[in-house]
Amino acid sequence: MMLLIFLVTLVIALLAQWHVKRAQARHSHTTTLSGYTGAEVGKQILRQAGSTNVDIVEHEQLLGDHHDPLRKRLVLSKANYHGTSAAALGVAAHECGHAIQHKMAYAPLQTRTAAVGDCSSFWSISFADRKA
Ligand SMILES: [Zn+2]
Repeated sequence: MMLLIFLVTLVIALLAQWHVKRAQARHSHTTTLSGYTGAEVGKQILRQAGSTNVDIVEHEQLLGDHHDPLRKRLVLSKANYHGTSAAALGVAAHECGHAIQHKMAYAPLQTRTAAVGDCSSFWSISFADRKA
């Protein structure tokens, strides 16, 4: 029974990941009228949410965009940090949502962070650490 639950969960996770990658690829060529980059949009969202103590940094890898609650920063791939596509702005906005959840002490995020621990050392291997 446990194996079945594991396999169903794995399939659902893989389908979700495939769907996100597909949507991001499709909208990475969709231009926005504002011309803002992902980093600029992230900065505006965080400022309007009162989260001015959260930095935005870029990293060299294609994937791995995330919010790092321990270092209080958003880590965006180079494409999303500098990109002006709908996908780049969407990813930046998504990560801002996690920073806002952290500020609000959103219980499901706290549970997730407690469950997976600090993943920042995994992600920080190749960060360029440039601020927005
Ligand atoms: Zn997320």
